[in-house]
Amino acid sequence: MEKRKRTVIIGGGITGLTAAYYLKEEQPNMDITLIELNDRLGGKIDSLKKDGFTIERGPDSFLERKSDAKELVEDLGLEDELVRNATGQAFILSHDRLHPIPKGSKMGIPLAWKPFMKSTLFTWNGKLAALKDVIKGQSKVSDDQSVGQFFRRRLGNQVVDRLIHPLISGIYAGNIDQLSLQATFPNFLDVEQKHGGLIKGLRKLSKTDENASAKNQGMFLTLKQGLQYLVNQLEEELKEQEILLNSRVTHIDKKNDQYIVHIDHHEDPIEADYLVMTTPHAVTEKIFSQYDFMHDFSQIKSTSVANVALAFEQDAIDNLPNGTGFVVSRKENYRITACTWTHKKWPHTTPEGHVLIRVYVGKPGDEEVIEKSDEEIESLVLKDLQTIMEINKPPLFKVVSRWENSMPQYTVGHMNRLKVLEDKMNQHLPNVFLAGASYRGVGLPDCMKQAKSVVQQIKSKEHN
Ligand code: FAD
Repeated sequence: MEKRKRTVIIGGGITGLTAAYYLKEEQPNMDITLIELNDRLGGKIDSLKKDGFTIERGPDSFLERKSDAKELVEDLGLEDELVRNATGQAFILSHDRLHPIPKGSKMGIPLAWKPFMKSTLFTWNGKLAALKDVIKGQSKVSDDQSVGQFFRRRLGNQVVDRLIHPLISGIYAGNIDQLSLQATFPNFLDVEQKHGGLIKGLRKLSKTDENASAKNQGMFLTLKQGLQYLVNQLEEELKEQEILLNSRVTHIDKKNDQYIVHIDHHEDPIEADYLVMTTPHAVTEKIFSQYDFMHDFSQIKSTSVANVALAFEQDAIDNLPNGTGFVVSRKENYRITACTWTHKKWPHTTPEGHVLIRVYVGKPGDEEVIEKSDEEIESLVLKDLQTIMEINKPPLFKVVSRWENSMPQYTVGHMNRLKVLEDKMNQHLPNVFLAGASYRGVGLPDCMKQAKSVVQQIKSKEHN
């Protein structure tokens, strides 16, 4: 009888779990081992229940439009658990004032004239610079360019610094003048090239878009019991598979057609026919440090952020603006970068009569803020919040979550570098696959999509 093959998945975050789940479904005759460093699965997904509040220490939701996350939830039969964000006005904090994000803008790109022209966030010069996009025509396409370069050319510096940069930083926590357009928002370049302008193109497309924004409903989904519930359900589905917790993979050797996976303090290494590496790239680099080309990973830098969830009684806060939260304009003196009024955006997370606020710190150049004590972070966050709301009682409790080197930066040339590296891996490390936040998208759906793609690649190798 032919020996069963084994896939070893390293890292039990959402990418590793998704890969394990779909591999089990698609290749029932394959053995699967999932190895995780921590004593729990989920990686950056980490929901905490406290005094009736549901607090997400990491991601809090996913974009519905990127269908892989919703599909996974449905494949697990959890669609009744889905909840959509409440919509409401979002703001930009600039010069101690909250300015409404102009209605009808998409990732800060103004698509509706009236609200944009009325906006208090920009000067007339700033507005005119942005509107010139309409008459500029498409740009010459280079190999890759930074997100900042692209948007500054199209819409001018003011709209970029005051609106687009803070919105994009909410996803990538980085400097948009270094981020690769190709790796993060290739669709905006496509639109510009196809329609001869960004505003023109996006307006045309939004007319044909019958989806969420047209219905004025939220674009994000989460699970009522917290995203950890998705992790727990995946763990339940994988209970017949081998899952090793508290297990650090230290290095991997290649032996003929197989790989030998060494785990700290485990006497017996594990043999694998296929390897799915979902660890952060810096860890993957170390695991394969005997291969010189793997050191190319060091070109991918990661930034650090922290967030603090603050729970209050309702009467502790006066004049909380009517909306769902704000991001902070760049080049200003605040330490906070974004704030969500979680009880409004996600009412299911907060008991009646209470307020839950989640605030981020750690913009580029201010990353050492995450090394401060919980109390210091709380106090600098409250100081910034006091500029726009009256907080007259201390929070009931706070939860500070630090995420060191957690946000991989896809800088200009990322996709090319990744291709070169994967070509070398194909040559020297066949049947080893990379997936996860370090490579082709940081959002949960992007991670799941990469995991599914690896499963398909393993499947096609098995069927050849
Ligand atoms: P990880 O979750 O990092 O998993 C990797 C796993 O590998 C970890 O569990 C780790 O312990 C394990 N590991 C490390 N070293 C070893 C080793 N040597 N041996 C074995 N295991 C090892 N995305 C969204 O879509 N929506 C959001 O709202 C959102 N918010 C975010 C907020 C924050 C604060 C952060 C940090 C990210 C957010 N993201 C969000 C992005 C998203 O959460 C991540 O990109 C995604 O969860 C990464 O999943 P992953 O499985 O690729 O990596």
